[in-house]
Amino acid sequence: WAKAEGKGRWALFDADRSASEITRYTLSAALPGALERGEFVVDYQPIVDLKTGAVSAVEALVRWRHPDFGLLKPDRFIGLAEETGVIVQLGRWVLEQSCAEAATWPPTGPGSAPPAVNVNLAVRQTHDPHLVAEVFKILADTGLPPQQLQLEITESAVIGTEDGSLDVLRELAKAGVRIAIDDFGTGYSNLAYLRQLPAHIVKIDASFTAGLRAGGTDGHVDEQIVGALVSLAHGLGMSVTAEGVEDEEQAARLAALGCDSAQGWYFARAVPANQLAGLLSLPVPGAPAPLERRRGER
Ligand code: C2E
Ligand code: MG
Ligand code: MG
Ligand code: MG
Repeated sequence: WAKAEGKGRWALFDADRSASEITRYTLSAALPGALERGEFVVDYQPIVDLKTGAVSAVEALVRWRHPDFGLLKPDRFIGLAEETGVIVQLGRWVLEQSCAEAATWPPTGPGSAPPAVNVNLAVRQTHDPHLVAEVFKILADTGLPPQQLQLEITESAVIGTEDGSLDVLRELAKAGVRIAIDDFGTGYSNLAYLRQLPAHIVKIDASFTAGLRAGGTDGHVDEQIVGALVSLAHGLGMSVTAEGVEDEEQAARLAALGCDSAQGWYFARAVPANQLAGLLSLPVPGAPAPLERRRGER
């Protein structure tokens, strides 16, 4: 028998249980305490305007500095945080943290606004009745203009659910917050539904970008798909961001297909807050250039 820390719950660990299950259990049980102890950090990845090369937005990506397991990527713990409900508190912390950070970012060029901050919302957060009030409070407390906040949600957060979470998004959008559909093309991708969403940005999943690599075998098909998504999104008045751009060829093809902005290791990796300033202040005339390709991804 092992005691789940701080919860007063008991669970049976039988010998067959795989190490990964035990790790999952350990991580899951440690989440609330980790939040209290300040073990989470937010890294930031630039999103580049493909026409001007300027950094138009920055995505906030959470990491867990685990005392025993080292720096953990969100894929290891976001699912667990959703299952246990801790995501609501963790998500609020990420929002506070990244809005406060974004409020300090300078404009990226003469006459231009500071970059927007993109914050990922878990499905569970979009069903939280307190979300709207919390977002408004965070904006008021940090002084971040609503127009500078972009909330990323996946299709699964809204597709197939009753109107509740759509109302939440509509209310946020009415206040000027922008909504991005993340990982587009990987879920149900109900195209008709896209029309009803109060969304401003479509983020094309990295799996499509991957096919645009030089010599990529599926290149032709993915080029067709990306082209179709771009015209659909533009037809609906939305802008398009491509994820996972790793080389120059992909960036060039995305630009040629009319994609508005892009994000990926070719431009810059996610970096700690204190390294971001150097990436934002680069001169960016003409075609997009890699900002900082070799910066260690965390
Ligand atoms: P996402 O929102 O689609 O974020 C993009 C992911 O792609 C990030 O992984 C980023 O580091 C990675 N990436 C960026 N450029 C490239 C590239 O050129 N090549 C490749 N292979 N990968 C690239 P990361 O940071 O591990 O985050 C994974 C996912 O975890 C995110 O996917 C997002 O769904 C989720 N996530 C991250 N932070 C949060 C958060 O604060 N809240 C919630 N609910 N989810 C989060
Ligand atoms: Mg995202
Ligand atoms: Mg994404
Ligand atoms: Mg993705």
